[in-house]
This record gives sequence, structure tokens and C-alpha cells, in this order.
Amino acid sequence: MKCPFCDKELEEGFIHNPSQKLAFYEESLKPQVFTFCLPEGAKELVETHSIFNGYRASALYCDNCNIVISKVRR
Ligand SMILES: [Zn+2]
Repeated sequence: MKCPFCDKELEEGFIHNPSQKLAFYEESLKPQVFTFCLPEGAKELVETHSIFNGYRASALYCDNCNIVISKVRR
């Protein structure tokens, strides 16, 4: 897949957190104290979870633009 900004080939990988769900937060939202909860309005990434691997969301990285792209769960 190509970067939507510079058209360079994107590198496949994943975003990782060993203990918390992965999400995009708008500036007005505050992360919850409990790690298994997301505040209303947070955009949870499409992720997998296991005890050994933690939370992983597939992502694409552009080395030219220094950006990461990941899908949001619907
Ligand atoms: Zn790019």
C-alpha cells in the first residue's frame, strides 16, 4: 500500500501496548483510570489481545512522512 501523502510504499507492522487497549483520543478526552475502559468518544483501534502478546493493532508506517496509519474499530 502507498502512503496517501507522499505515495511512497508503506511498511507493515503493528502498534503495541502490553496492558491497555489502543485508541485515538480527541484532545478533550481523558484516559480512564481503569485500563480496560475507554472513555465515550475514544476511537478504539482494531486490535487483537493475548496474555503473552498484549494488545496489538495492525498499522502501516511511512518512513518519509514519519506517520503511522491504523484502522479504527466500528
Ligand atoms: Zn509518506
